[in-house]
Amino acid sequence: MTKQVNLLDFDVDGLVDWFAEQGEKPFRARQVLRWLHRFGVSDFEQMTDVAKSLRARLGEVACVRTPEVARDSVSADGTRKWLLDVGQGNAVETVFIPETNRGTLCVSSQAGCALDCAFCSTGKQGFNRNLSAAEIIGQLWLANRLLGATADGERVISNVVMMGMGEPLANLDNVLVALRLMLDDHAYGLSRRRVTVSTSGIVPAMDRLRDACPVALAVSLHAPNDALRDQLVPINQKYPLKELLAACNRYLVAAPRDFVTFEYVMLDGVNDLDTHAHELVAIAREVPCKYNLIPFNPFPNSPFRRSPSERIRRFAGILQDAGIVATTRKTRGDDVDAACGQLAGQVKDKTRRTQTLHFTGTPRS
Ligand code: SAH
Ligand code: SF4
Repeated sequence: MTKQVNLLDFDVDGLVDWFAEQGEKPFRARQVLRWLHRFGVSDFEQMTDVAKSLRARLGEVACVRTPEVARDSVSADGTRKWLLDVGQGNAVETVFIPETNRGTLCVSSQAGCALDCAFCSTGKQGFNRNLSAAEIIGQLWLANRLLGATADGERVISNVVMMGMGEPLANLDNVLVALRLMLDDHAYGLSRRRVTVSTSGIVPAMDRLRDACPVALAVSLHAPNDALRDQLVPINQKYPLKELLAACNRYLVAAPRDFVTFEYVMLDGVNDLDTHAHELVAIAREVPCKYNLIPFNPFPNSPFRRSPSERIRRFAGILQDAGIVATTRKTRGDDVDAACGQLAGQVKDKTRRTQTLHFTGTPRS
């Protein structure tokens, strides 16, 4: 086993501290940070403005290590999905979604997820472990390298969403290191509005994120009342809607946007009735928000069906008639199982979760 320190595990402060331990000045750390993240260079010998002696020493004690690409799939719509081997039988997925005016990278934060939402393929895989900071930022590092730059020399990835496998706020320490690098001008230089963390609603961690690194916030709402949300998003039993909505308002005090995006998966006959839409209108009176409706993406053995498009249109219409912004997410990459909720990677489950499905209601037949 190599004892070399992986420099991708550090944000700028961490790198400055580690360089100090090596007897090196802070500006050296910033130089190396730029090589690593702005220029995507992993070979210390190519860091030409770094003193030769330091380059040689880094080669001995440090390394730049990302997960290995195990599979690279391209969807008919241009969406690209990488399966990344993170060792010991675990693999996570990263998805790049090209659009006309932006390119979004969907990043994973855990191998699996312990929260077990009823409609989520990742959740059904169980949970193995948190990803390290290097494994999280390594996804952006790798994708930048593999996608190259545009004709004008711009990076192709303009936005990052923490919406891959895992619950980012259950791995906040490592996610924070990665977020700081995404925002750092010496690294990826993304604005706070272009980096989104999606959470199923871990209330204390929402407060920590606000204080440490307020980026755009998306919340997986998926149900407009506690009775239904308790079943669909089980973490609701711990942090019920009233507390979640209060945490959203606290978050907005520091947020880069003046609204929260509520994600709402459209499940046929389960959460897509007119009454549900009216309940969502009431929620929007409490929290400045936009709704993003996500047509359910099926996966093997799931008990749910996607709401018909006409139903989704009508549901969105009720919200819009009440003056609320409601968009419907286009399903992208589903031919390579890269759509929301289809990411499964490969997880050596440690939770002894059986394949029991926690949803007890009956979808409309
Ligand atoms: N754990 C975080 C982020 C990852 S999931 C969270 O739950 O917010 C990204 C989004 O996809 C979440 O809103 C999630 O609820 C949604 N999702 C999960 N399974 C889905 C499915 N089968 N179809 C559509 N969306 C799904
Ligand atoms: Fe985990 Fe998010 Fe899937 Fe729920 S929806 S199981 S929190 S990844």
